Amino acid sequence: MGENSSSVPDITIPKDLLPSDGRFGCGPSKVRPEAVRALAEEAPHYMGTSHRQATVRFTVGALRNGVSELLRLPDGYEVILGNGGTTVFWDALCFGLIERRSEHLSFGEFSAKFAQCAKDAPWLEDPLVVEAPYGSRPEPVEDDGVDVYALCHNETSTGVMCELRRPPSPADALVAVDATSAAGGILFDPSEVDVYYFAPQKVLASDGGLWIAAVSPAAVERIERISTSGRHIPASISLSVALENSRKDQTYNTPALATIFLAVQQVEWINSNGGLPWADARCETSSSILYRWASQRDFARPFVKDESARSKVVVTIDFEGVDASTVSAVLRRNGIVDTEAYRKLGRNQIRIATFPAIEPADVEALTACIDHVVERLA
Ligand SMILES: *Cc1c(COP(=O)(O)O)cnc(C)c1O
Repeated sequence: MGENSSSVPDITIPKDLLPSDGRFGCGPSKVRPEAVRALAEEAPHYMGTSHRQATVRFTVGALRNGVSELLRLPDGYEVILGNGGTTVFWDALCFGLIERRSEHLSFGEFSAKFAQCAKDAPWLEDPLVVEAPYGSRPEPVEDDGVDVYALCHNETSTGVMCELRRPPSPADALVAVDATSAAGGILFDPSEVDVYYFAPQKVLASDGGLWIAAVSPAAVERIERISTSGRHIPASISLSVALENSRKDQTYNTPALATIFLAVQQVEWINSNGGLPWADARCETSSSILYRWASQRDFARPFVKDESARSKVVVTIDFEGVDASTVSAVLRRNGIVDTEAYRKLGRNQIRIATFPAIEPADVEALTACIDHVVERLA
């Protein structure tokens, strides 16, 4: 509990209003209890065993195949992985994918961070950064001087999602998409992208520390070319080293085995329920519950004005006349956690993950809990 817990109004939400699971954070996000139980069952044969031996390599293979099926990757696309999560992968892209200059669509904390990362890399030219105010999204600007278009499928800090379309020129530019909070929750056409990357502690309901990327044949060619160009690339974040190891169902250095196991559980759960179309529809159902509820309340309004840009997986709701952080603090006391706005956004807002692992009925219950709290705060 925070330092101000004593000033949090003492409101108890009746048990029959509470969701079955109180985790609504955007990452680390709810891990399904079934997946954790499966891990506990397998643990004696899996945890604490060598990542160079068949048991773990089989699980890494299951993750690579499962992601490939989930994302419905075209022939020739490969799934690669390594340690460090998305933030480290941005460095890997600066070293191993961007040839000279990238273009970044910047419209929130995460997309801005990658743009800064490319700006700080002394071997690259200053990136072209196309910005849009938080809560909206920019369009790519075609520029023949760029060799990578850096897009973000879903801005987790603001709850804005994007359509993924390959800019027509230059023809050999690659499209790299940060899909950390989108992969496995939002439908897209993989032929529009060359590198679709994410970490598994969000939509994939696993834990942090790993990056996973689907790469096109053109991206593989670029990775191989840059790796032999003479540019110094640290082995720990080298995409060609990751490619080589991933093809053997391994990582360059030791990964977190539980993270891989839990990610496989989630990927296979989604695939067995109907795959990405099923997950997308489920996220749409959950997010619609919140957007509809907000539009029916005087004190609440969706932050994102353009309805087509409203995220299916991260819902941001502005409050007026009610202090959102107080509401979140009361919810937290009642076991409903991580509904706070993104810390640096600085808005009177709640932010709710509607990832596939989260039950739509629990999202419905959450709205009843918020109503209960707001009525008592008035
Ligand atoms: C969470 C997130 C990141 C950072 O992921 P880490 O694994 O913590 O490095 C990057 N981009 C987006 C869109 C995110 O949601």
